[in-house]
Amino acid sequence: MLTVTAYAAASPTADILRTTIERRDVGPADVLIEIAYAGICHSDIHTVRGDWGAQTYPLTVGHEIAGVVSAVGSDVTKWAVGDRVGVGCMVNSCRDCVNCRAGLEQYCENGNVGTYAIVDRDGTVTQGGYSTHIVVDQDFVLRIPDAIDLAVAAPLLCAGITTYSPLKHWNASPGRKVAVVGMGGLGHLGVKLAVALGAEVTVLSQSLAKEADGRAFGAAHYYATSDAATFEKLKNEFDLILNTVSAEIDLAAYLKLLRLDGVLVNVGAPPEPLPVPVFALFGNRRSFAGSSIGGIRETQEMLDFCAEHGVVPETELIAADEITAAWQRVLNSDVRYRFVIDIATMA
Ligand code: NAP
Ligand code: ZN
Ligand code: ZN
Repeated sequence: MLTVTAYAAASPTADILRTTIERRDVGPADVLIEIAYAGICHSDIHTVRGDWGAQTYPLTVGHEIAGVVSAVGSDVTKWAVGDRVGVGCMVNSCRDCVNCRAGLEQYCENGNVGTYAIVDRDGTVTQGGYSTHIVVDQDFVLRIPDAIDLAVAAPLLCAGITTYSPLKHWNASPGRKVAVVGMGGLGHLGVKLAVALGAEVTVLSQSLAKEADGRAFGAAHYYATSDAATFEKLKNEFDLILNTVSAEIDLAAYLKLLRLDGVLVNVGAPPEPLPVPVFALFGNRRSFAGSSIGGIRETQEMLDFCAEHGVVPETELIAADEITAAWQRVLNSDVRYRFVIDIATMA
């Protein structure tokens, strides 16, 4: 076992404080990564605060990991010491079910092993990236292209792939009108990626406070959802709506913004179920869908796409002892647009 520095929560309500955790020894197929940066995803907060169910504490979260390979197991063929790599939301899956075989490990029929808060094959609870090192099977490691600075790469590993995958699946492309609801960590990358894919992009945010940023990210239109006139004006407008909001929204109001055969894809994961208003679905033969992160192959595709198209997360770098305060700012929708922990500050 390797004892490494980490920041953990001791309970659902605790601050995120310095501690040590154990990493397994580097097995034949494993890679040891020295973590340089870790993004703060709203899912980290939902998980620790118990929004999605009870957890085992102490718990170290973080599933947007960027770093450098510092050791490899005897059977590792894909990676070498010094490689710039990332780890996202999964660290393993069964590899044998129909979905794993299709490269859709996030939908593993036997349950993928999440990067944190999941009981791993060895019975331990996985611990995430707010930490100096992590040991991961080589097949769940991603290559960070040279064109992407490690300091800004981390948010792509969750926020990037979680927005890229549905945008691709539901065909965000030239001639298609895409709305992104909520411009936080996921949302701002959803805007940049949809623009890079050629769609005409609209931001639906709570207010107009971030309009200049949204337009700088390439959005053609920007509306405040606090203004009832927005929902009148945009009726039957969009082919695709990507909802990234971490809280409940009025689904009926948003569904009515879809044109014929339009789809509202929910990636936001609020604590309570969202009631689906069926009559709003009947009109225009609309669909309501969900999407979970993305497979390993598609995550690499997304990283390469971002390198090629210059899609870069907007980040605010913080020290490890600022995590608790940063979480509060995320909860206040006061994030521009992803907090990234400088892991060197854990030394
Ligand atoms: P975030 O940075 O906090 O962004 C969420 C945004 O939603 C906020 O910036 C805000 O945007 C808007 N918002 C927040 N509260 C709101 C409210 N009460 N009413 C209306 N709008 C509100 O969070 P994130 O890290 O992007 O994550 C977003 C959600 O996606 C979370 O629930 C997270 O757990 C989930 N998630 C899902 C997946 C998946 O695989 N499906 C993966 C990662 C994360 P404006 O200020 O622009 O209104
Ligand atoms: Zn996440
Ligand atoms: Zn599987």
